[in-house]
Amino acid sequence: MDISEFVYPVLLVCGFIGVMAVVGIGFSYLWLRVLGARFGTCPNCKRRDAGRIVASEVVDSRSHMDFKRQPPARVTVKTIEDRWQCQHCHHEWTMTVRETERTAVKPSK
Ligand SMILES: [Zn+2]
Repeated sequence: MDISEFVYPVLLVCGFIGVMAVVGIGFSYLWLRVLGARFGTCPNCKRRDAGRIVASEVVDSRSHMDFKRQPPARVTVKTIEDRWQCQHCHHEWTMTVRETERTAVKPSK
């Protein structure tokens, strides 16, 4: 029996698992970062859930009609800049979020 016939698929599987593990770790790292930001982790003292929104401003608002779905809807995409303040170290930072609003438009008869 030729050993290389056995080694090659094993290497392939190991390589695949390795790549999946790296991708998985990368994704969970990004996910944790996104979640951390969502829950108001302070970028200065790194405390979780320390941030509170002190001001919120709509910096951009665009709307368009979506006729692809029934009933047609007006889609408004708002870009909101939230100002956060840490309750521990009083560090302030801003975070931009995008909000999509769908308002169904009744067909005129
Ligand atoms: Zn802080």
